[in-house]
Amino acid sequence: MADLVFFSGTMDCGKSTLALQIDHNQRARDREGLIFTKFDRAGQSVLSSRLGLETEAVEVDDALDFWDVVVDCLTAGARVDYVICDEAQFYTPRQVEQLARLVDELGIDVTAFGITADFRTELFPGSRRLVELADRVEVLQVEALCWCGRRATHNARIVDGVMVVEGEQVVVGDTATATEGVVEYEVLCRRHHMRRMNSHAARAASPSPDTLPFDLDACPVPPRR
Ligand SMILES: [Zn+2]
Repeated sequence: MADLVFFSGTMDCGKSTLALQIDHNQRARDREGLIFTKFDRAGQSVLSSRLGLETEAVEVDDALDFWDVVVDCLTAGARVDYVICDEAQFYTPRQVEQLARLVDELGIDVTAFGITADFRTELFPGSRRLVELADRVEVLQVEALCWCGRRATHNARIVDGVMVVEGEQVVVGDTATATEGVVEYEVLCRRHHMRRMNSHAARAASPSPDTLPFDLDACPVPPRR
């Protein structure tokens, strides 16, 4: 029985590493599949993990139709037993529906990996549709940590060293844009996300470089604008 499974987590929690491991396990059992990704840090048409492993993948853009791609492969005589989808938060809701159809009508196992919420703590449309449609949603157990040592549950966008909570939903990290400056991401616990206290701000607020403000009173909640 095929399944649509959504593995969710923050950045840095090992999603791409698990995607590569699942692909390896499937191949070891002589199953054949397709790997998709979008905006991977290593560039176009590559699925890479922070541990240094990578494999070729099909780059997803908004026009890609998963149903058509898979049916074309089958028609050409290839086998498609499973589909692995990385960075699935960037897929359109329609594309997630195409993945569900592959499971239901062609009996193909689909495993998707993605971040649930963006830097504003709002759901990505692709992740929302996955939560709505998946047979199973798994929260990854390899947990990333906030600078304070708590479990990191939220993604923060940092522009020129300062955490921001407004802007375009999708800006790929480690890039300099004309309008935004240098964009990076950092994972934080909810408390420090709500207080907009990234590691840079925590160091700046700390009286000595060795003492970080673990006391939450040292990180007041910024006023709502
Ligand atoms: Zn924290």
